[in-house]
Amino acid sequence: APAPAPSPHLFSDPAEVEALRGDLLSWYDSCKRELPWRTLAATELDADRRGYAVWVSEIMLQQTQVATVIDYYNRWMQKWPTLQALAQTSLEEVNELWAGLGYYSRGKRLQEAAKKVVSELSGHMPRRAEALQKLLPGVGRYTAGAIASIAYGQATGVVDGNVVRVLCRLRCIGADAGSPTVTDQLWDMANALVDRSRPGDFNQALMELGATVCVPKAPLCRECPVKQHCRAHQRKLLGKPLLVPDVEDCGVGGCPLCPPATEPWDSSLGVTNFPRKAARKQPRAARAATCVLQRRGCGGPEYLIVQRPSSGLLAGLWEFPSLPLAEGLQEEKQREMLAEQLQAWTGSPVAARGLQLVGEVIHVFSHIHQTYVVYSLSLDEDVTLDPALSPSRWVTEEEFRASAVSTAMKKVL
Ligand code: SF4
Repeated sequence: APAPAPSPHLFSDPAEVEALRGDLLSWYDSCKRELPWRTLAATELDADRRGYAVWVSEIMLQQTQVATVIDYYNRWMQKWPTLQALAQTSLEEVNELWAGLGYYSRGKRLQEAAKKVVSELSGHMPRRAEALQKLLPGVGRYTAGAIASIAYGQATGVVDGNVVRVLCRLRCIGADAGSPTVTDQLWDMANALVDRSRPGDFNQALMELGATVCVPKAPLCRECPVKQHCRAHQRKLLGKPLLVPDVEDCGVGGCPLCPPATEPWDSSLGVTNFPRKAARKQPRAARAATCVLQRRGCGGPEYLIVQRPSSGLLAGLWEFPSLPLAEGLQEEKQREMLAEQLQAWTGSPVAARGLQLVGEVIHVFSHIHQTYVVYSLSLDEDVTLDPALSPSRWVTEEEFRASAVSTAMKKVL
């Protein structure tokens, strides 16, 4: 019987793989963005410091734009240039530096992991992706692969959102990109493609391509260094599949990587037919009443902030006293509840009618569409805060901005 034809979704020709590696790396060498963590990883001779530099950058870059990360990264590395320095600092200081970067548990876990490396691994980072993932809290498969390949030269692939997009387009993978089948396939592909002599550069090049050329909405295919290897691009140019066996035939046999039969190729979308994603879950709506409580301080107004619990959303961060609100609660009732809560915080009676409704602030967290109903209240006399309650303190506006507070609370102020 004739051998089965190779799947059109895979890289089955070694010569093509070699050519793709070469094209991608040449482009990267001439076009890559100069980023502080790249410079550091390329010039740092101490292996642990190199691993640490890549690790910090990778954690900060999760769900966050490069342009936002640069300043945070530089300040972080200046303050804690080594794992040992990070392990010795307080969580409060980590939260203060992280304030505004979002997904706050990342900073906390980075510090926990640094402590673990210092106390349990003699201060030495694991060098292999498998060990990094297994031993370091907060280090998943992607981050482990990035550290091992970029800092330690292990020939292991990485798959992040950019790589998903590029690979799905290169090989016309149109099944749900978040499904386990496609995810496994993409990891296998990334591991097979990665350049054996320059794995770190290759992985960064693939991600860089996704971030700057093969972007989600309007990819710059004409300028793309790997367009001759891209099946989505070929298909767009020809207006029909070119491959033998072609990608559409593949779907007839229930191919797990083809677009679902109900959603065939849409020529108006071109290469952006790929990747396909299952519809995202809408964020849950939540409401909270929050009060900017103000008193006259020596150098100007001061505000009361309280610390959130040490686990859950925005763990350990500071905020204006806030109270979750049930859906459909009347304004009068929410005012009363907030006044009661404030009374507990300050230990002094607070009249509900004294609370002035200022407006609403909306902030979208990854999975919560949060509305803060903002009140303000100025206190004439001093109040003594009850130490039995969660930690709380009075801060000036300047201190507030330097504290570990979320972006949402800065909007409230
Ligand atoms: Fe992406 Fe276009 Fe390049 Fe294909 S040719 S990898 S779709 S930018």
